[in-house]
Parts: sequence; structure tokens; C-alpha cells
Amino acid sequence: MKSLWLDTAPEIPADPFLPNASYDSVVVGAGLTGLTTALLLARAGHKVAVLEARTAGAVTTGNTTAKLSLLQGTSISKIIQHHDADLARAYVTANLEGQAWLTRFCDDNDVGYDRRDAVNYATTDSGAKKLDSEHEACLEAGLDTELGRAASLPFPVRRTLRLRNQAQFHPLEVLAALASEYRRHGGKLIEGVRVTGVARTTADGVELKTGAGPVKARNVILASGFPMLDRGGYFAVLKPLRSYCIALTVSDDIPSDMYLSVDAPDRSLRTALVDGKKYLIVGGNGHPVGHRSKTQALVDDLTRWAQEHFPTARPAYAWSAQDYRPAAAVPYVGKVPASGGSIYAATGYNKWGMTNAVAASLALSSEILGGNMPWADTLYKTRVSPADVLATASTGVEVGLEALTGWLGGLAKTSSSAPPEGEGIVVREGGRPVAVCTVGGVEHRMSAVCPHLRGIVNWNDAERSWDCPLHGSRFTADGKVLEGPSTSDLTPAAGSGKA
Ligand SMILES: Cc1cc2nc3c(=O)[nH]c(=O)nc-3n(C[C@H](O)[C@H](O)[C@H](O)COP(=O)(O)OP(=O)(O)OC[C@H]3O[C@@H](n4cnc5c(N)ncnc54)[C@H](O)[C@@H]3O)c2cc1C
Repeated sequence: MKSLWLDTAPEIPADPFLPNASYDSVVVGAGLTGLTTALLLARAGHKVAVLEARTAGAVTTGNTTAKLSLLQGTSISKIIQHHDADLARAYVTANLEGQAWLTRFCDDNDVGYDRRDAVNYATTDSGAKKLDSEHEACLEAGLDTELGRAASLPFPVRRTLRLRNQAQFHPLEVLAALASEYRRHGGKLIEGVRVTGVARTTADGVELKTGAGPVKARNVILASGFPMLDRGGYFAVLKPLRSYCIALTVSDDIPSDMYLSVDAPDRSLRTALVDGKKYLIVGGNGHPVGHRSKTQALVDDLTRWAQEHFPTARPAYAWSAQDYRPAAAVPYVGKVPASGGSIYAATGYNKWGMTNAVAASLALSSEILGGNMPWADTLYKTRVSPADVLATASTGVEVGLEALTGWLGGLAKTSSSAPPEGEGIVVREGGRPVAVCTVGGVEHRMSAVCPHLRGIVNWNDAERSWDCPLHGSRFTADGKVLEGPSTSDLTPAAGSGKA
């Protein structure tokens, strides 16, 4: 599956990898967080390299819905519940700064974006109550939301919550402009190089291990979605959530606000004008990564829903992506705990990374350059602690059960024949779970054990990938890492000569 954004992306030139090179800062990952942070550091005169395992924007940023909005579902009431109104105000300030920085950057670089109202809608009484609470929370946190009873949607709604004058954009056009200015400042954007760990940390900085050789940096910024250093303990506090998007071509006038449901079914709507064609984008049907196998049915359900409500719309693209829900209800941004060096990370945007990634980049670059963002001290004071890792009893239980269910599920099945085209299954071979799938007429067989923390991968039939239900690592049909915390591929199954 390919997103509308990646299919219509401007070219983003890359630079060669130089083994053993030394930089002031190395940024791991070329999504919105990585390229914004890299640009801010390069503007300040740092010698910077961005190391990207795949290509710029290939993972969540290229598969987002790209609403640049401060109305974020029911986030603000959740933040007040978890923390207090002061922290919610810091969250709003940070996101406003992120939004303002990005629109200013677009203005300065001739990147188009549309001003739109953001509208949360409820179709049930309980959803309406959630909107009432969110409205109160937003007012308390400094957002000028408005309650209403009508939306220009083709189905009845009970309540709406509107925030005027938000924005939407094409995320790859923004990434290309960020990359271009970054490279003009001398920054290197290196694609196809995966960082696999830290070789050593010294008083002078950090030596990183990569698939192409070592590099050194005074500062390392993990902008990799899920930070891939387990010593940070992020696996105990991040929940990977995957969801689906479709883009349909439309000829009629359709509602142009950016909509989000607050009750089931979860739906996110926006429009886009790309290369002269008008699209309606519909997102939804989210679930924890690796917990659903028949995922194509979720894409088909989104298409059915869209065509029921917008009968002239014609499906053009379908894609899916994942983001990470933080246990603390706010992102984790700052020094990686127990990293022993100048290693920073930014993660846990809970599907609101367009503003949060830029806010995190502003805060991290400022910290590295010796500046100060007053809101950052309040907002990012929650760090992953050893207590999180030890005391996340629920995560521990979940990990245990997932692993057990995975192993038992695998052990219960045996199969001598290959699955049909496009399908995958975990079977028992020699007492070990083996992932077997058939894609493009080729049968692939490999260990079903995720190299990260030993979850058992599940087949994802829409993406034709193997997805780990524990921490969201994902692998291609033949076992190559796609995303998530794993830095290694699935290992070939013992005695497998077929893959
Ligand atoms: C379906 C969906 C819809 C969304 N819609 C919105 C929205 O409308 N508005 C909004 O604000 N937010 C939205 N979000 C959230 C937003 O898209 C993300 O929070 C944001 O894109 C994250 O950006 P990032 O740069 O942190 O991560 P990514 O874009 O995932 O970038 C991380 C990069 O790091 C690379 N990488 C990973 N590991 C390594 C390694 N070991 N070595 C080298 N490189 C590595 C990856 O290949 C990747 O390119 C949505 C999320 C989803 C899933």
C-alpha cells in the first residue's frame, strides 16, 4: 500500500555515508522530528548528519493525515486528568509554537497549506458528554473552542466542538523543503543506513553502530518514532497503535473542515488538492499493532463507509501507519534515561505529531544549543523512570500473555503446505514458531520470534508484513525490518532454503 503523499512526493536528494566520520550532532530518522531538529541544529552552525534507515518520510510522516491542529480529539481533558491544568497549558503553548513555526516555515519556503477549522463530532450522548468535557478542558488550557450541534457532514451528529483557523498540508512537500534548507546549511541526509546501537560513550560523545560502519557525534538525537535503545525503557511506556487511511477522488463539493469522531466508529476526515485532483481522506479502524491479521477487511470497511456517505467518491489510495501512545498522556522528550551520554529522544505523539514533533525539535535543539524553552521544562518533566520499567505490572503481564498466546498459537498449528498467495501463518517446526507466507508466488519461512523482546509476530494481510504485538516492530514478508524498535531482521528458519 502506498500513501497519496509518498506517491506524489517531490524528490528529496540524499548524501553518501562516510564511515568513521565525526559530527557535532547525528539525528536518527528523517521524519518530521528528525528533519526539523536537524535543520535547527544546522542553522546554528552544527555539523549534522541525519541517518535514515529507509527514505525520508517513509514511515509515519509519509503516512499521516497531516492535520496541523490544536484540537486533538480529547487529548486536553486526558492531560488534565493525568496531570493538571498547568501542564495542559504548557502542552497547548508547545503545540501552538510548533504550529506557528511550521506555517511560518511554509510561508518562507513557498510550501502550500490550507487554513481549515478543526471539528470534533459526536454521534452519541456519551460522545457529546466527552465533547462538553473537552471544551471545558480546552478553555482552561487556553484554546478558544466552540460547542455546536451541527456539522456539514452527510449524517446526523449530536454535538460538535470547533477550533477555528487550524491547518492541513502535504507532509512530503514540507519534508522536502526542510531537507532542502537543511542541506543548504551543509547538513548531510543519509538514507538506507540503520543505526543498530551505541558502541561506546565517552566524555567526547557517542560512537554509534550502523549497518554501514561506525560514526561519532557529540550529540545523538533519536527521532526514530520508537526510540531503538532499550536502555531508555520506552517499551514500558509506549503503546504502538496502527490505523488505516484511504484517499478518494471527489467531484462534488464536500465538507472542507477537518473532522474527527470521538465515538465509534473512529473516523478522521480531511480534503486535499494534489496535482489538480481533489481528494477526500478518511482515516480510522485503529488497533494495537500486531493484534489484527485480517487488516484488508479494515481498509474495505473504511471504503464502504466512505462510499455510503459520499456516494460519488472513488477510491484512489489506501495505506496504514502507526504512532505511539504515551502512558504519561504527553510526549517523552529529552535525554534518554541511563544513556550515559548526550543522547536525546522524542516520541509518544499519540497521532498528533505534526505540531508535537516541531515542538519537540524546538525544545531539543534549544537544550543542545544552550537555550531555554520555558514550556519545555513543565511539559517534558515526565521521564521514563526505572520505576516505570519495573512497576508497569500491566505491561509486564501484557508482555507475558502476548508472548504466551503467541507461542501457544504457533505451537498449536502445523502445516506442510504453503499458505495461499498474500497470506501468512505461524506454524510449529521443531518446537519453534515459524512464520510462513506466500507473496508474489514466493514462499518465505523465518523464525516468528521478534528479535526485539521476543514477541511472536502476526501476519498483516493488508500490508503483507509481519507485525509484533508487543512493541510494534514490523517486518517485510521476507523478514526485513520495516519500523518499530527492532534493529535486526527476523532470522531465517532453521533448515529453510526457500526464502
Ligand atoms: C494514521 C495516522 C494518522 C496521523 N494523522 C496525524 C494528523 O493528522 N496530525 C498530526 O498531528 N499527527 C498525525 N499523526 C501522527 C504523526 O504522523 C506522527 O506523530 C509523526 O509523523 C511522527 O514523526 P516522526 O518524525 O517522529 O516519526 P517518523 O515519521 O516515523 O520518522 C522516524 C524515522 O526514523 C527512521 N528510523 C527508525 N529507526 C531507525 C534506525 N534504527 N536507524 C535509522 N533510522 C531509523 C524511520 O525509518 C523513519 O523514517 C498520525 C499518525 C498516524 C499513524
